[in-house]
Amino acid sequence: MDPKWKRSLFEVLWPNRCPGCNALIGPDKVVCDACGEHMILEHDAVCRRCGKVGCICAKRQFSYDRALAACAYDEDTIPAIIRMKQSQNTNFAAFTARILADRLRHGIDFGEIDCVMPVPMHPSKERLRGYNQAALIAKEIAALLELPYREDVLYKEKTGKAQHELTAAERAKNVDSFHIHDIDLSGQRILLCDDVLTTGNTMDRCAFLLKQQGAAAVIAAAAATTAPPDKRSSPSKEETP
Ligand SMILES: [Zn+2]
Ligand SMILES: [Zn+2]
Repeated sequence: MDPKWKRSLFEVLWPNRCPGCNALIGPDKVVCDACGEHMILEHDAVCRRCGKVGCICAKRQFSYDRALAACAYDEDTIPAIIRMKQSQNTNFAAFTARILADRLRHGIDFGEIDCVMPVPMHPSKERLRGYNQAALIAKEIAALLELPYREDVLYKEKTGKAQHELTAAERAKNVDSFHIHDIDLSGQRILLCDDVLTTGNTMDRCAFLLKQQGAAAVIAAAAATTAPPDKRSSPSKEETP
């Protein structure tokens, strides 16, 4: 079949939609103009150290060294995040990866990066969803910045419960399900990607493991970050089923 026809057929069968409002968008777009404008979080709104909109560095130190986020976790982005987690629309991953790559390319705050990794997902969950959304974001950033992508380092074991089903104390313990292979990461500066940064526990645990293997620095990149409770318009969720 002529490639042009093939593409048109694909667009008819699977029309491209905005992950925010579900409106039809052009084949080369990842969000509609209105949603794109509302979703982007100003780079300076996020603390470069903890990755939060309301800095929590005075209360807690994390194992990652630097952090950045593309969007706030709020009423504008929650529909897009839900669609991404329900295997309906992955455009939000591409949209946020482009913003993050741009900030990393132009930012003086993050230094050199040697490789890009996602926060891992348990294989059975990944099979069910069809993908690990953190990996979609990480792969896109790696491609845009022409950096090596690695998912052979960190892995996750099944715990039975999703983060949002747990109490705060259980959440902290639940991150014990993340593990690392015995791989030498001496001197490596690693970009670690996830979809939502809530408590920071997940990124913190993964960064801790990477440093145990010798990583020199870990930069945490999140598609969306939650605001402090007083600025929040809806309850936060680290993970939806
Ligand atoms: Zn839209
Ligand atoms: Zn901070």
